[in-house]
Amino acid sequence: MKIPGTDAEFRKIAEKLIKNGHEAYLVGGAVRDAFLHRKVTDFDIATDAPPWRCMEIFPYAIPTGIQHGTITVIPRSRAYKVEITTFRTEGAYSDSRHPDSVKFVGDIVMDLSRRDFTSNAMAIDLATEAFVDPFEGKKDLARKLIKAVGEPQERFREDALRAIRAIRFSAQLQFSIDAATLRAATEFSASLLKISAERVRDEFSKILLSRRPSVGLELLVSTTMADAIIPELRACQGVSQPMHGEKDVLSHLFDTVDAVIADGLPEERLLVVRLAALFHDIGKPACMSDDQGDISFYKHEFESSNIARDTLTRLKYPNAIIDAVCHLVRHHMFNYDSGWTDSALRRFVARVGIDSIPDLFELRLADTIATTGGPHSWPLLEEFRSRIASMIEEKQAFSLKDLAVNGEDLAAIGVPRNKEMGALLSELLDAVLDDPSLNTRESLLKLAHAHYFSLDRLKN
Ligand code: ATP
Ligand code: MG
Repeated sequence: MKIPGTDAEFRKIAEKLIKNGHEAYLVGGAVRDAFLHRKVTDFDIATDAPPWRCMEIFPYAIPTGIQHGTITVIPRSRAYKVEITTFRTEGAYSDSRHPDSVKFVGDIVMDLSRRDFTSNAMAIDLATEAFVDPFEGKKDLARKLIKAVGEPQERFREDALRAIRAIRFSAQLQFSIDAATLRAATEFSASLLKISAERVRDEFSKILLSRRPSVGLELLVSTTMADAIIPELRACQGVSQPMHGEKDVLSHLFDTVDAVIADGLPEERLLVVRLAALFHDIGKPACMSDDQGDISFYKHEFESSNIARDTLTRLKYPNAIIDAVCHLVRHHMFNYDSGWTDSALRRFVARVGIDSIPDLFELRLADTIATTGGPHSWPLLEEFRSRIASMIEEKQAFSLKDLAVNGEDLAAIGVPRNKEMGALLSELLDAVLDDPSLNTRESLLKLAHAHYFSLDRLKN
């Protein structure tokens, strides 16, 4: 049997272990995904060779988790990585996150029994190609079911991350969760608070990157896991809003996340826009005012952005992601119509920053689709997009670095290099946003001179 998704280099790695007298099994996600005809990205091999022996056999391997028995081999093509882990079992977990001890064991079935779900606990013997499936994972794959290996409560008590992993796999694979496994996930939801934020974050991101994130997000709410991750979501339940029909804020947030179209967006950008979609109106409950039935959510974008920053910081997202998400949330409330002048349009681009415009459009498109129920194109947004595109094509100025003069030029006419220089540059940009024809060295120096050495300023 040719193992789907494997190439000659992978085969060579496996054969090196086998020729040295060791067992080698393909395990985990690669086996599951091969059966599901999903693209396999990385490979996990389980072996009886102890870690020091693996390092001897693969001297160029990276000892990525050697204390847990894992080394990583990168093939010459660099197209994937192969993690080789010594068969192991885990001792008791007294803290719901770390095994007190890791013991290397002699056989694949014991190794599979420490794994989280039946569909992740299948193996293929790379020497004989025999299929090893002690927990009937193949049957659960056919039933599209996520089911814990063994007693779910015990398994989630050992490692509460498994509770959110159940939801992640359910969202990614569009599987349902076995009833007892789901009950245990709910029971251990609060234990997520004890888990390292990075591990929770990685599972949460995978939920948001799945085809219909709302399925996973609804499960996070119904199992109360959301209360441990984003407590502010709860307050959005039942808050109805004008213009959104029957939908409360929570459903609108989830609909918006689903409506962010993945096609063509690289993964990191998709994550940023989906996170922004999830948070864009989360501040509404705190900002709600009701003036005799006239409901409004004045300045909710600021509150939403604050909640996003607190949550994403707690989850240890990188600063670049946090800043990008908060920026989108903070600016999502623009109301373009054809009456906007070119100058208003340029000011908008200057305020938001040209690099954020494409993602802000994606967010706004998703918000509109979620509010109106489609269609997937919006004529006004298209008009907005094309007007901005032609301004960019004409190389119009939107920021200080696009001006025909810089600090050096201003220093040369006697402007001191201090706050006043910054203020003067901003004034020049303001003038150019109003009238792009002013963006020449000659006009701007004249203008700078007039502004800086004006009688009013000299008098003060
Ligand atoms: P992905 O495609 O997202 O990488 P995966 O199944 O390979 O999916 P990993 O997180 O890479 O998931 O883990 C590899 C394997 O290790 C899993 O298939 C599972 O057998 C086991 N595993 C990972 N995390 C846990 C855990 N917290 N508890 C038990 N087993 C786990
Ligand atoms: Mg994996």
